[in-house]
Amino acid sequence: MTKAAATAQTQFLTVVSRDEAVARFAAAYPAMPLGTEYVSLDDAFGRVAAAHLRSPSDVPPFDRSVVDGYAVRAGDAAAASEAAPVELALNPEHIHCGHLPRSEVTAASATAIATGGPVPRGADAVVMIEHTTVGSDGTVAIRKPPLPGQGIAFAGSDIAAGETVLRAGTLVDAREIGLLAACGIGEVPVHRRPRIGILSTGDELVVAGSPRPAAGIYDTNAPIVAAAVRENGGEAVRYGVIKDDPDALRTAMRRAHAECDMLILSGGTSKGEGDHTYRLVGDLGAPGLVVHGVALKPGKPLGLAVCDGKPVVLLPGFPTSAMYTFHDIVAPVVRRMAGLPARAETTVAATLPQRVPSDIGRTEYVSVALTEGAEGLVAHPVSKGSGAISSFVQADGFVTVPALADALPEGARAEVRLFGADIRSPDLVIAGSHCTGLDVLVGALAELGFTARVLATGSLGGLQAAQRGECDIAPIHLLHPQKGTYNAPWLGEGQELASGWRRMQGLVHRKGDARFEGRSVEEAVAAANADPSCLMVNRNQGAGTRLIIDKLLKGARPAGYQNQPRSHNAVGAAVAQNRADWGVAIEPVAKLYDLGFVPIGPEHYDFAVVSARKARPAVAAFLELLKDPAVRVAVTALGFEPSEE
Ligand code: AMP
Ligand code: MG
Repeated sequence: MTKAAATAQTQFLTVVSRDEAVARFAAAYPAMPLGTEYVSLDDAFGRVAAAHLRSPSDVPPFDRSVVDGYAVRAGDAAAASEAAPVELALNPEHIHCGHLPRSEVTAASATAIATGGPVPRGADAVVMIEHTTVGSDGTVAIRKPPLPGQGIAFAGSDIAAGETVLRAGTLVDAREIGLLAACGIGEVPVHRRPRIGILSTGDELVVAGSPRPAAGIYDTNAPIVAAAVRENGGEAVRYGVIKDDPDALRTAMRRAHAECDMLILSGGTSKGEGDHTYRLVGDLGAPGLVVHGVALKPGKPLGLAVCDGKPVVLLPGFPTSAMYTFHDIVAPVVRRMAGLPARAETTVAATLPQRVPSDIGRTEYVSVALTEGAEGLVAHPVSKGSGAISSFVQADGFVTVPALADALPEGARAEVRLFGADIRSPDLVIAGSHCTGLDVLVGALAELGFTARVLATGSLGGLQAAQRGECDIAPIHLLHPQKGTYNAPWLGEGQELASGWRRMQGLVHRKGDARFEGRSVEEAVAAANADPSCLMVNRNQGAGTRLIIDKLLKGARPAGYQNQPRSHNAVGAAVAQNRADWGVAIEPVAKLYDLGFVPIGPEHYDFAVVSARKARPAVAAFLELLKDPAVRVAVTALGFEPSEE
């Protein structure tokens, strides 16, 4: 057995189920609020009330007028009408806000009063000024009979003294702040915010905004965990990026552990070369690691520890793994420390358009994007592997495949746990092959107020989604091998083609490479095949570009043929970074990576449109935009050639 294999087998202490992990963590650290502090009303925003609060006073604190008018005894003017107004003697006072009345309203008299003014002794109603006429002789004529109590807000009618105005556990927002202010409460008891120390570990990590060395990776976990900590009531304390160096790590971990209530590290959680955190965590105090390895996907290399009364979490390095495990296992603990109730989860039922395979023995989370199908919601898996952060933004929620299932079958109904409270139902669903030119159209649609969802399923996947009624438009670029033409021969029933643009495909190579520079495609491929040290980069099975490559190679299988990435950009990056010497990609990609380009021929990128959906406003707008001169200019600027038709 090689050393590497031996390491791989002992990577985790023991892998436990998700529920077992949660139970062990809870037993070692029974999370609860950390204590109460008093903050000013302004600072209470976003905090969690730590105690029930009762109003110390009535609101309003006295009977007050709710109109501008005259305080009267209702009975004195009971007979008043427009035809026969009742005249009352005006008392020599005008009651303003903030001033106590000086005199009583006695029989057949009235006192002028402003909105908010305290109602004087003797009065039991306030007549609106609109229903009165002031005479020249110190009288006021009442033209409408008041009812007793009219025009008055009585003391305590809004909030009675002693009434509970804030309950413990409430997240204080603008409305609560208004209520507390009205009661005169200037300080609020809130749960102390848990201070959560966050540090990322890895020699490769670089902070966003600073230059990235060739093999550097931007630190994603610290910013996303910090934001998620705040979302769940914690205070995020950043300790930056620490190299995979035991001494540096030990120092940083000790400091963060001493200064915070909880510590969240990410990366280096396995037992590989350069993975130190799981060993160092024990130095922070007993009992140390209580879980190392959870049967979750993504998220297996999760470590949970409690050191000297404080939880220490070792999140997996891959950002999606870090996020799923944070939300599922760590966020509930942060919320309990912050005094927040469990997050209210929203779930919806949706159909899976394709089989979702899964490993037996691990609870698997699959991010899905929701669209409206013919028979309700459809959940499209958008996972691009555990390293893919974009799947979070493109997804609406996730589906859980139980540990004992090897797959969820095609057509199954699944429960989708939503990331946010509501589903954004897009106006337009586009499923198929992605192209940067498409972003121009989606942007132009947004300016018209239409939202579009783009699902990158590949050309064939898009046509199938269109057939199943799950999308409006499928962008495709498929050469028909027999007919030798693009796209139209591939349309299914009820679909029609809208012309998009042409993308020049070509052989890409590093500039100055004499094997390719200045040659025809045939010469270049022959030169590459003749040189045993020359490495190609291929494309995935099913890609339109793959058909072109196989045609060029005429059955040859040069070194690098098995390297089959799924995008034009990956081909450009492989050649630019010297991991391969040539490949086939579109011209804009050659420009992006500053590569030499030997043109092969134009590929047609068009749109299969579901005929029955053409009349939908967003579909109609999309088809109009395809002809829009400004859109065509923008698409051209990206290096594409809009079709003439
Ligand atoms: P590790 O757990 O350290 O073996 O890392 C697993 C993978 O996640 C590697 O590809 C790391 O580069 C990546 N990774 C680790 N930490 C981060 C981070 N903070 N941000 C982005 N990627 C990370
Ligand atoms: Mg690492």
